[in-house]
Amino acid sequence: MDVALARAWVEAIAEAIDQHTDQLTQLDSAVGDADHGANMRRGFTAVRAALAEFPAETPGDVLVRTGSTLVSSVGGASGPLYGSAFRAIGKVLTGPVADAGQVLSGLTDGLAAVQRLGAAVPGDKTIVDAYTPAVAAFEQELWDGGDLRAAAARAADAAEEGMRATSALQARKGRASYLGSRSVGHQDPGATSTALVFRALAEVTAR
Ligand code: ADP
Ligand code: MG
Ligand code: MG
Repeated sequence: MDVALARAWVEAIAEAIDQHTDQLTQLDSAVGDADHGANMRRGFTAVRAALAEFPAETPGDVLVRTGSTLVSSVGGASGPLYGSAFRAIGKVLTGPVADAGQVLSGLTDGLAAVQRLGAAVPGDKTIVDAYTPAVAAFEQELWDGGDLRAAAARAADAAEEGMRATSALQARKGRASYLGSRSVGHQDPGATSTALVFRALAEVTAR
């Protein structure tokens, strides 16, 4: 991953968020406060502006800047969570070009950052339920001899599977946890946006 690919990834996420703003908001209206679409859109609109005039030298520069912008522009829980994830990913990618193994280290550190901040474990019906299987699938594909493109494709499939599986779960973290058992039967908004993040990575690495 070089600077251009990191920029393309972030731009593809911004486009996906634009296309799915209403879906994310509808999901959050069932289990939260109906602002996840707006939160993500505000965040990635700010990221686009911040990156436009930012002279990045490494993919890490792009992703750290993305994370810092999300933290400062999104008020909801998702801002600090995604913000720390992108900052952690970016901190690993310090050279001009990162190989697939370094991207895996970054993604792994990003997940750790989300869990350090939010204390969610798999099964709590959060971002973690899409992110955890995505990282595991990415790693497995590298072990199987796949490249960045193959690993990203497999991670995106796993993230979407994890996303769909959140419907059956009862929320134990975030606003949705206030609903108790009434959160069951609704797909988690944050797991849904996480699946968009991984699908965007799969798309740009396949170009
Ligand atoms: P808010 O809940 O503050 O309105 P958003 O609606 O933008 O923020 O984001 C809600 C999403 O954040 C949830 O669907 C869930 O996936 C995620 N989330 C909430 N709390 C946590 C947590 N502690 N760890 C991981 N993800 C979380
Ligand atoms: Mg919300
Ligand atoms: Mg909110």
